[in-house]
Amino acid sequence: MPATAERSQCLIGGKWVDVDAARYADVWNPSTGETISQTPMCSAADVDRAVQSALRVFPAWRETPIVDRARIMFKFHSLLLAHSDEIARIVSLEHGKTFSESKASVTRGIEMVEYACSLPALIYGDVMHNIASGVDSETIRYPLGVVAGITPFNFPAMVPLWMYPMAITCGNCFILKPSPRVPLSSIRIAELLVEAGLPEGVFSVVHGDKECVDAILTHPDIRAVSFVGSTQVAKYIYQTGTANGKRVQAAGGAKNHIIVMPDAEMSPAVTGLLHSAFGCSGERCMAGSLAVAVGDRGDEVVDRLCDAANKIVVGRTDTRDDVTMGPVISKQHADNIQKHIDTAEKEGARIAVDGRGVAPSDAPGGFFVGPTVVDQVTPKMRISRDEVFGPVLSVARAKTLEDAIELGNQCPYGNGAVIFTQSGRAAREFKHRFNAGMIGINVGVPAPMAWFPFTGWNQSFFGDLHIQGKEGMQFYTQQRMIMTRWFEPEHVDRHDPVWRPGHK
Ligand code: NAD
Repeated sequence: MPATAERSQCLIGGKWVDVDAARYADVWNPSTGETISQTPMCSAADVDRAVQSALRVFPAWRETPIVDRARIMFKFHSLLLAHSDEIARIVSLEHGKTFSESKASVTRGIEMVEYACSLPALIYGDVMHNIASGVDSETIRYPLGVVAGITPFNFPAMVPLWMYPMAITCGNCFILKPSPRVPLSSIRIAELLVEAGLPEGVFSVVHGDKECVDAILTHPDIRAVSFVGSTQVAKYIYQTGTANGKRVQAAGGAKNHIIVMPDAEMSPAVTGLLHSAFGCSGERCMAGSLAVAVGDRGDEVVDRLCDAANKIVVGRTDTRDDVTMGPVISKQHADNIQKHIDTAEKEGARIAVDGRGVAPSDAPGGFFVGPTVVDQVTPKMRISRDEVFGPVLSVARAKTLEDAIELGNQCPYGNGAVIFTQSGRAAREFKHRFNAGMIGINVGVPAPMAWFPFTGWNQSFFGDLHIQGKEGMQFYTQQRMIMTRWFEPEHVDRHDPVWRPGHK
């Protein structure tokens, strides 16, 4: 087992190795606050070792037929399915999601592997006959070389799987740097990928923080970087990576609006809002964190939300499967979330359901914040703009759909947005004009499936080609256009019927 209760190892050159790190970060069980592992902070030298092992194997991996690369993914897929409960338990242990949330996130990751298995049907190029007289043209996609992925804490299994199955099947070598707060899921999944038969060096795992990330961003032999995390870091990754000549896709934070029109079917709207805001303790980039009630049904929306929020059972997820909401990632994060609620209250919002100070009796050391509903939020309040990334649902009111769309246009992010309505006209207006890249119509969390791109806009995404879908494949490949003309041979007898086109 590479991941011990002590210190996580790195996967470099196909071997699990201890690195001699100068610094280590604690990994906690957020349900109890106990330290369960330590993550080494890798240096530039560690990153370089991973790059060198990748460079050694890349020529052979690039030339491996794509069906053989995909077959390793099929094997990986079987192993993931067989171990999905075990992986979900690790996700719950190190992250704090409930088991069913963890299992669902592992399933979404497995779908990315399924998509990667279909790559032979996606990656082929185009051919055109006779673009000029006797000239044909074609495009072929090639892998880039060594590429890297830097991932956040909130989906320890799923987000890394958004990246490397596709990158590797395209013929690249991949270096993963998971969040130091949740390394154990990545390590267990990497063990399965090794077991699936991946050649040594094609996939590496290094750990660390800014020092390790900077080594990736400035390494001359890393061709592309995929990033998912907060907006501030995403912007830094994009600027530094592109300044160093790399292709970069960097997904950032979000503030997702959910509009409830007066004609909405209220039960599914409230259920959608509830799952969107409080699922995974609100630690989702697609969490609906600002509900905008249009017209005169705002009080009804809030009352029904409060009833439902009060029924959520908050508790430890490491040993219990009967809770409906787990802890947040760290004590510091729990404190930050509570500060957001304090500020909203000071600015005049009404705390309709208060999750501050929630402490389940069987998990006194855990990092808990209960579901919170903040009502009467206005555009001037910080909570209407800031990404809280916790189980806090703000509710604002708008007189008209136009006002609600205008509120969205003031939002600097642009990940997801949802409308609940029975009006096709309102839905159409919303979907074409709202300032976000992923739209839900009567769907609480419009997170795309593997074969659609994760199309964040504005401060929620930096780059051109998004993660997932065909754009994912395009990001990890470069195209070559080839134009061909064949001359009639001069050294042969042109009257010889063997060489004469169209002879009978
Ligand atoms: P984060 O930005 O703190 O960390 C993400 C990664 O960057 C980690 O691997 C971390 O080690 C590294 N990192 C952190 N600070 C760095 C720095 N100064 N320089 C270089 N690297 C650094 O994000 P997080 O707290 O782990 O995750 C939560 C954030 O991720 C939220 O903002 C959430 O919205 C966002 N997120 C976005 C998406 C999306 O698809 N848009 C998906 C999931 C999460």
